[in-house]
Amino acid sequence: MADLAAKPLVCPSCATRHPADERFCTRCGMPLTYAGRIDLDLPVSAAHARARKIKPQYSEGELVRVAGARNQAEAELIQGLLLEEGVPSMLRRTRGFDVPDMLAAGPRDVMVPQTGVDAAREVLLQADLIASEPEAPAIDRPFRIFAGLLIGIVVVGLIVWALTQLGS
Ligand SMILES: [Zn+2]
Repeated sequence: MADLAAKPLVCPSCATRHPADERFCTRCGMPLTYAGRIDLDLPVSAAHARARKIKPQYSEGELVRVAGARNQAEAELIQGLLLEEGVPSMLRRTRGFDVPDMLAAGPRDVMVPQTGVDAAREVLLQADLIASEPEAPAIDRPFRIFAGLLIGIVVVGLIVWALTQLGS
């Protein structure tokens, strides 16, 4: 019980116990959840309130990027929206901005566990924070058409060139 009072938070992934002032597992980076018994001696911290909202079915699997935020404040706003639906999330500094000068500022990636991705996308869609179609296919398709056209032009060019060679 002493352990529970000192470390009331637990990692949903590796079950490591953490003190109340931690927000993420120090071993695997998962958002921590409240371990059990409500201890009246402990002040109800933001971390507790947060942990109680998390739905366990959304806290399993690899972390997946679901959104990008321009800064920490925007990222925390997104985290708050996700948490309202029970989806735990964590922030990562967007690649290329993880140098010391940029630690406080700079864009963030919002990551959620694999099992929470669908719920998270639903929340973000309703909040107009992401586009309705995944980005990749939308970019991929015009590129393929363009690549196809390019190949077509080259083939036609070769045929024309071959014909001119035959004629001379
Ligand atoms: Zn862990």
